[in-house]
Amino acid sequence: MNNTYDCLVIGCGLAGAVVSRELAEREGKKVLIIEKRGHIGGNTYDFLNDDGILVHKYGPHIFHTGSKRVFDYISRFTQWRNYSHEVLADIHGTLMPVPFNLNSLYIAFDSEKAARLEKKLISTYGTDKRLTISELRDQTDSELADVADFVYNNVFLHYTEKQWGLTPEQIDPSVIARVPILISRDNRYFQDKYQGMPSNGYTPLFEKILEHHNINLQLNTDANEVIKMIGNQIFFKGKPFKGTVIYTGALDEFFDCRFGRLPYRTLEFLFETHDMTWYQSKGTINYTVDKPFTRITEFKHLTGQDIEGKTTTMKEYPKAYTGADGEIPYYAILNEENFELYKKYRQLTDGFSDFHLLGRLAEYKYYNMDAIIERALKLADQMIGVEKGKD
Ligand code: FAD
Ligand code: UDP
Repeated sequence: MNNTYDCLVIGCGLAGAVVSRELAEREGKKVLIIEKRGHIGGNTYDFLNDDGILVHKYGPHIFHTGSKRVFDYISRFTQWRNYSHEVLADIHGTLMPVPFNLNSLYIAFDSEKAARLEKKLISTYGTDKRLTISELRDQTDSELADVADFVYNNVFLHYTEKQWGLTPEQIDPSVIARVPILISRDNRYFQDKYQGMPSNGYTPLFEKILEHHNINLQLNTDANEVIKMIGNQIFFKGKPFKGTVIYTGALDEFFDCRFGRLPYRTLEFLFETHDMTWYQSKGTINYTVDKPFTRITEFKHLTGQDIEGKTTTMKEYPKAYTGADGEIPYYAILNEENFELYKKYRQLTDGFSDFHLLGRLAEYKYYNMDAIIERALKLADQMIGVEKGKD
């Protein structure tokens, strides 16, 4: 019966789960979540593999945020393992911290030169500062130009070419700016105030978010098969649906890619279990100058699982998304042309006042988990505010 639900949410990733909980809890809305995969959690889904090691099916996920609201909200559903992610770049076999920082400087250059460069970097930019590789490349001092060249060529250029099939100049500057250069000795990958891993993993966290009597879940169901937009009406299982629809999947796919596919990058993941307690010294090693994969992550560093003699790693191989069966669109390719195409799809939703686009795919953005939670909370605020306004 269509009248059973006030709200249909498509996709059970963070966006779908958080907005469902908000509407169910704060407004007493009866929500149905429709998810095409056989599990909850979207791309943050984790599970125990055959060797009992907790792994992330769709790539390594570390939670970090500067937002107290986001951290307090998500902490309702999980306790935390105190974990600060550290990443090393493998540069022809030499390992150094990424983001490139003052410790990296002393590995990249001999100690006398490094000491001189450290002084120059501090007098130019100040201590405890972060800057982008383009800012560093913009300055004119010839010795600092050496540092900029070193970091550009050894940290950013080849990794970016592998990840995007493009050079750093060809991608949106905000992408490269995610990884700064740090004028400090902070070896952490993220500098956010709140960071860690859910103590029991992401899937149990999702189970808690969804544990509400107003939330119903239908797995293994593609929304395209049960929801249609015809004229200015939404149909659910063949009958007009008058309630709210929140869509968190790829927007082009909802409209059968009628204007052509939105470009994305996808990844192939290679899981390997090794008969050893530890494979590498840190959670992630980035291969920034060679190898066909971008990075290797060893999950036990992230999760803190105490298992002797076995460990699982994941290699990531990026490639263009083609829409072939089994491929998943992981990264929107941000540029003006792609955003124009996205806008054409978005216009198709204009006539539907209670149809909302939410999430990394549906908004065609490069959102981290915390940004998605914030967006979902804001959308719920907005919807609740709008509805209260009507009272
Ligand atoms: P998703 O998790 O993609 O969920 C969308 C859901 O909708 C999916 O379950 C999908 O199956 C479902 N769906 C789509 N279409 C349909 C349909 N037609 N019918 C039914 N269901 C449908 N963020 C961090 O903060 N820290 C990290 O360390 C981090 N690491 C990452 C590593 C990788 C490799 C990737 C790709 C992303 C990473 N992220 C990280 C980002 C994070 O994954 C996203 O911010 C977050 O998962 C987005 O949530 P979402 O709900 O918008 O999308
Ligand atoms: N990047 C790089 N070298 C690195 C790490 C990152 O060139 O060692 C660039 C690359 O273009 C990458 C972007 O910075 O896509 C953002 O990196 P981030 O680690 O945030 O990517 P994600 O974890 O989202 O894949």
